[in-house]
Amino acid sequence: MIKYYNYDVVFSEIPDEITLAINISGCPNRCPGCHSPHLWQDTGHPLDYEELCALLDRYGHSVTCVCFMGGDGDPHGIARLAGIVRRHFPALHTGWYSGCPELPQGMNPEIFDYIKLGAYVEALGPLTAPGTNQRLYRIGRGGSMEDITERFQHRPVPEPSSAFL
Ligand code: SF4
Repeated sequence: MIKYYNYDVVFSEIPDEITLAINISGCPNRCPGCHSPHLWQDTGHPLDYEELCALLDRYGHSVTCVCFMGGDGDPHGIARLAGIVRRHFPALHTGWYSGCPELPQGMNPEIFDYIKLGAYVEALGPLTAPGTNQRLYRIGRGGSMEDITERFQHRPVPEPSSAFL
């Protein structure tokens, strides 16, 4: 069961988007230096069809993107949730911040408009750091993945607001 700890409307996680960022709990990655170890626990509200639709009804007209922050414990479940966003709010973009270095087996990237891959490595820094190992991709037709990480490195960005940056 996918659960979420909280959510927020954010402006830095996906370039040029107003994003409803949903912080998924139960993170299995255990990155040393993690900014949000509270997300390691299996805690929070179940993020099922009804709960996601309630969030979309409340915020779907105020944002341009819905991004699932985490969910590496059940990536295909995250993809199913992204599919619900696509069906009910086709004008919204979808994103996923994963801490995995590559897409999970069998994952079709086309269900997302954006995917962030890569664990948080304290010595390399977040997406805003020039030497970061993390990459943000824009997903194109046919599942092509355009690396747009440099969009984070050519603008003044405040301290990361997300555990996943
Ligand atoms: S930094 Fe993010 S991916 Fe890594 S353990 Fe913390 S919450 Fe999980």
